[in-house]
Amino acid sequence: MKKLFIILLLLFFAVSNTQNRTWIDSYTSNWEKFEGGTKLMANNDNWLPITFVLDYHPENLKADKLNGTYVVVPPRTKNYEVVRFDKIDKSKGWKFKKGNTRTYLGDLTDTEYDENYIYDLPFETNKSFKIGQGYNGNISHQNKFALDFDMPVNTKVLACRDGIVVQVVKKNSKRCNEPKCAEFNNLVKILHDDGTIMQYLHFRQNGVRVRLGQKVSKGQLIGLSGNVGWSTAPHLHVDLYLTDKNNKYKTLRTKFKINKNDIVDELNKGQTYLKGY
Ligand SMILES: [Zn+2]
Repeated sequence: MKKLFIILLLLFFAVSNTQNRTWIDSYTSNWEKFEGGTKLMANNDNWLPITFVLDYHPENLKADKLNGTYVVVPPRTKNYEVVRFDKIDKSKGWKFKKGNTRTYLGDLTDTEYDENYIYDLPFETNKSFKIGQGYNGNISHQNKFALDFDMPVNTKVLACRDGIVVQVVKKNSKRCNEPKCAEFNNLVKILHDDGTIMQYLHFRQNGVRVRLGQKVSKGQLIGLSGNVGWSTAPHLHVDLYLTDKNNKYKTLRTKFKINKNDIVDELNKGQTYLKGY
């Protein structure tokens, strides 16, 4: 009986290793056996939630959640119960067939957001910068609602909206014109209260001025712009997104405030925008 249990335990680990991780993240999960069953426990060290999309095929076990359920583990949480299985026939053993439980960084249940939110331009008052590449741009914005502000290295980059810093990369210096250099992007990601995330890319080496977990206010300095990563010239890239089940992230349209009473639905390629507030 003990031998059987060990075999089943090994099978368990084999199953849990098949989980696809679509993001570089830091979380751990483990199975915790108890009298009459087992449960999956997770530790999430990220500043973002993690979503498990359940898919298990147990034998002689009843799950407390159906396959396909999205289980969201809050950020910075230890020992979170993801799913629990109770033995059906207590006199028999139990096991799992291969499943395809997946994990994602972000809250996949959160698909609603404030479409009418008005963002501030990400630079100082009275400065003006041109949009070098806009929505669906043909250099690197295909199928993305992303914006590139052409700006000299060392321009102060300000937060477009209040939020919490959920990711920072700041040590890179390498740059090239090809997608492979995206891994060298220095970046700041800020989570807003409606679940959207704005990412700001290409800061100069060690130019980031915020830290992970920090609360930031709209207009606050978050870093100095650069020309690092996948970049053809000095610029700041911004895009707003929600984590999406199929595409890792789904970018969203954003409205911007240009002047005190002047709001635009879209910033256009080739146009220069002066921040008048
Ligand atoms: Zn860009």
